[in-house]
Order: sequence, then C-alpha cells, then structure tokens
Amino acid sequence: MSTLQEISQFLGQLAPLHLAEAWDNVGLLVGRQQRMVASVMTCLTLTPAAVAEAVDRQAQLVVVHHPLPFRPINRITDESTTGRLLLDLAQHDIAVYSSHTAFDSAAHGINQQLAEGLGLQEIQPLIPCDRDAQGLGSGRWGTLPQPVPFVELASRLKKRLGIDHMEAVGVRDRWVHRVAIGCGSAGTLLTAARDTNCDTMILGETNFHTCLEAIALGVNLLLCGHFASERFALEWLAERLAEQFSGLSVWCSEQEADPLWQV
Ligand SMILES: [Zn+2]
Repeated sequence: MSTLQEISQFLGQLAPLHLAEAWDNVGLLVGRQQRMVASVMTCLTLTPAAVAEAVDRQAQLVVVHHPLPFRPINRITDESTTGRLLLDLAQHDIAVYSSHTAFDSAAHGINQQLAEGLGLQEIQPLIPCDRDAQGLGSGRWGTLPQPVPFVELASRLKKRLGIDHMEAVGVRDRWVHRVAIGCGSAGTLLTAARDTNCDTMILGETNFHTCLEAIALGVNLLLCGHFASERFALEWLAERLAEQFSGLSVWCSEQEADPLWQV
C-alpha cells in the first residue's frame, strides 16, 4: 500500500501541475494526504456510473481526467449532480485526483501520445508554456514523413483510437503534411495551428463557428470525439500506476462510456 501523497507525487511527475491552464483545477481535489491506498480506478469523467463503479469495487482513489469539482462551489448537497457525486465519494472515503490540462500537455501526455501515434516528427507544442523549462505546452504539432491524403490520415486516426467514424471539416481531396493536435475541446488552439502553417488539425470536438473559422483559415479539421480523443490515455495511466506501485490494484473504469451515439 502507498499513501495518497506518494501516489499524488508520482502523478505530479507524469504530469507536472504547472503545465495546467490557468483556468483549470488540478491536483488532489478530495482526500486525506496520509490515507493508505490499495485500490485505484482511473477514468475520463466522474459520471454517476463511474462513481457507482468506484463504490462497488471499493476504489480508494479515483484518478480522473476531468476535475470534480471543476468550478468553485459553495455548497455540497444532493440538489446538484456535482454535490451528489462528491457526497457519494466522500461518504465512501474515495479520494479524487485530476491532472487534466497538465496531462494534456505533459511530455508523455495525451497530445504527445496522439502525435506519436500518428507518426508525426519534430513534435512541438502549439503554445509553449512560459513556466516550463523543457519547452512543453498546450497542444502539439508536427510533420508527417510523407504527405498523405486527408482521408488516409482519418483512417489512421480511427484505427489508432479504435473508432469507426469521425467528423471532418474542410477540403476532402487534400494532402496532409503538417498536423496540429488538441485533445478534448481545444478549438481555441485553431489560431496557433494556422500560425504554425498546419494544413490539418485534429480535435476531440469543437463548435459550429470554429468549424467555419477553420474553413476560412484554410485548416482542415478531424473531429474524433471528445471521449475517443482522451479516454485511451486513462488506460495508459492505469498501466503506469500498476507498474510503479506493485501491490496496488489498478483498473480503468469499465462503466463509463461515450455519451454520444448514432441513431
Ligand atoms: Zn476532456
């Protein structure tokens, strides 16, 4: 068994918290630092299903990508979903840790993993973090060794993420050479993608007007889904925790799922 503090320190090495965006809420969000932990669940989001799973399987810590709580709250009651989930977690003595945008931006974080998975070279952050000595930062961009057709890049990404469809914006018959990446809802990185002369940007999701802006800027988009763009990294994180802390029971949530489906 390890203390919550020891596990938090390891997570802070994987995803240094100074990489988090200023608006974010990261680190240990629920829990007592010296509590001994024997079982950890990772998940993308603490939904009611994920919390129920953590309770049923007696997780003592949940390492969740999306922070709970995220925005400041002034009451924890059963009148809100956030309040109900926090009450359930606290009543079952389940701690919560989130790295969120620090993990998006880390050296082996989500955007880096996506970039490497597509075979990009000379991978760099789209927006370097001015507090990071190693030049890490938000998003990634890089170059393919050989230009490929846009639909070929889409096929590679689908295969990589284990999904069978995604949305696209822009010109279908286009060759892709320089690719920008922003997991989750990272449409705000579009301008940086244009500024680095990327012809294509991969996002989890974005809104209608950002799609139109991408066309205006001449950047093709692939929208692979918020869930698919990040969930794989929580499976990776569960493996890293299991390797680092022998004796710790670690699993990635089996109950959370993409809320979107096709009808
Ligand atoms: Zn996300």
